[in-house]
Amino acid sequence: MKTPFHLMLIPTLRCPARCAYCWSSEHTGPVMDLETVWAAVDWLAGLNDDPVTVTFHGGEPLVAGPEFYEAALPMIEEGLAPRTVAFAMQSNLWLLDDRLAAVLAAHRVPVGTSLDGPPDLNDAQRGKGYTERTRAGMEMARRHGVQVSVICTFTAQSVLERDAIVGFFRENGFVMKLHPALPSLRDDRPEPYALPPEEYGELLVYLLDQYLAHPDTLRIMNIDDLVKSVFVRRGTVCTFADCLGTTFAVGPDGGIYPCYRFVGMEEWRMGSVRDRPTRAELEATQAWQRLAAFRTFVDEHCRPCRHIRYCRGGCPYNALVPTGGEATGVDPHCVAYRRIYDEITDRLNREMFGGDGMEAMLMGRRPAGPPGIMALMQRMVSR
Ligand code: SF4
Ligand code: SF4
Repeated sequence: MKTPFHLMLIPTLRCPARCAYCWSSEHTGPVMDLETVWAAVDWLAGLNDDPVTVTFHGGEPLVAGPEFYEAALPMIEEGLAPRTVAFAMQSNLWLLDDRLAAVLAAHRVPVGTSLDGPPDLNDAQRGKGYTERTRAGMEMARRHGVQVSVICTFTAQSVLERDAIVGFFRENGFVMKLHPALPSLRDDRPEPYALPPEEYGELLVYLLDQYLAHPDTLRIMNIDDLVKSVFVRRGTVCTFADCLGTTFAVGPDGGIYPCYRFVGMEEWRMGSVRDRPTRAELEATQAWQRLAAFRTFVDEHCRPCRHIRYCRGGCPYNALVPTGGEATGVDPHCVAYRRIYDEITDRLNREMFGGDGMEAMLMGRRPAGPPGIMALMQRMVSR
């Protein structure tokens, strides 16, 4: 099976919100023009013919405005035809109006927005009034039929309120995608918010238990992805797959980077879409070489780990940027990944090889006892 290609377009690094732990947005800065979008399309058309997901990220991508999306979305679809193009967007939805919602709906752009829990908790982390503005955007999206999931960033403080956060997601019927607050790799602002890896591991196990206990009122996308990875024996999201050469980000000025997280970091720039670099030219860049060295490091370092096939050392950004690009360690969240993958694997083995798990699976019925990993897998298949 071909690996789907992922192109991240960063129309701007500007964002009207001021989240306390965010280090990837700016107050000012350029906005991508349509000539750059066309250059990105033309560059990608010459690079490969793989199915592609194009994700608009930021900063806040809606800052680019309705004219941008009304022109860019068809330009991308037509310029990359006949391959399959899927879209996605990550946005706080503050700027969503009828016109923007209509164009997102017309091109089937699902949006991941951000709420960290109940309003008091969310606004303490993301700024006063954030919840109200995002909820208004979600309502606008709903009216137009734009699909919305909710990214929940867990910080060192909010993790103490995890019961209230899960309750909030269940009460509102929001699909959760969780994200651990990371230490800043560009400056020291978010250090007090960063979620330590051990706590992140505990949180994942807690969320697994919650998800299994509340199958009708809770859906957590990360848990689905982790369980699926163990079943299919390969990573199904970028953190656990080899993103080198299958993911690129294009910044507002057309600069090419390995992923949105690197945008604006000069030492990770791989060229410009305006120059239409070939794959060989991209492979010769320092950024590519550093990620390739990380891949080699993982092959050796993680060899004894039973999860290597579907973990692949985690996210290279997390691993490489703190060391100035030297592959001297894996993603610092290794502790968390090992914890949750151990938990899923061990529970699965107990379910399959203990009790009546294997017989139930062969008979197509639910094993006796409380819902477990196999029941979750059956639910995912039947969705
Ligand atoms: S660098 Fe990390 S976040 Fe970026 S695509 Fe790779 S795994 Fe994903
Ligand atoms: S859990 Fe840790 S040791 Fe195992 S593959 Fe992932 S990063 Fe490597």
